[in-house]
Amino acid sequence: MNSQCTDFGDDLHSSEYPQLADLYANILTEIGEDPQRQGLIKTPDRAAEAMKFMTQGYRQKVADILNDALFDAESDDIVIVRDIEFYSLCEHHLLPIFGKCHVAYIPDGKIIGLSKIPRLVDMFARRLQVQERLTYQIARALQNALNPLGVAVVMEAQHMCMMIRGVQKQNSRAITSSVLGIFRDDPSTKAEWMSLLQIS
Ligand code: ZN
Repeated sequence: MNSQCTDFGDDLHSSEYPQLADLYANILTEIGEDPQRQGLIKTPDRAAEAMKFMTQGYRQKVADILNDALFDAESDDIVIVRDIEFYSLCEHHLLPIFGKCHVAYIPDGKIIGLSKIPRLVDMFARRLQVQERLTYQIARALQNALNPLGVAVVMEAQHMCMMIRGVQKQNSRAITSSVLGIFRDDPSTKAEWMSLLQIS
């Protein structure tokens, strides 16, 4: 028997993450459940796989996602990808944060494949986060990769830790923004972006 699995037995853990599955089995015991009852027998494995999926961003790099998709820009017109849905986990409670992300940049010679932007959002979202840092990391990664004239990222999100515990506010949304370069310096550029998003 694997020493990591002495409590629950190797045969119970078919996932790739037996140590994490054991920890989830311990959580089930701690909350008063029986991890060996029929309905829960595979739960530690499933929970371990889900947690690894939701935190896969730790095992990804910006360069791997963006590097092969840079192209020469033919204009310096604003590029916007809006309503990118995202799912993250708050680092304080390990509960979901979910919502929409809007990304804009103004190229300075380089553009990036549009589908890379949601992948970049997912990479940072699938880590333990606070919304403010998540917003900033997406903006900074685009700034570093493209060196554009400006980058703006707005995130609107609901936090399960505020909805189902704590203050229990189901309809509140947190809005965060990170603006770099011309979006920060030029009020008319910022106004254009905000009007395109219909955010005031
Ligand atoms: Zn929280």
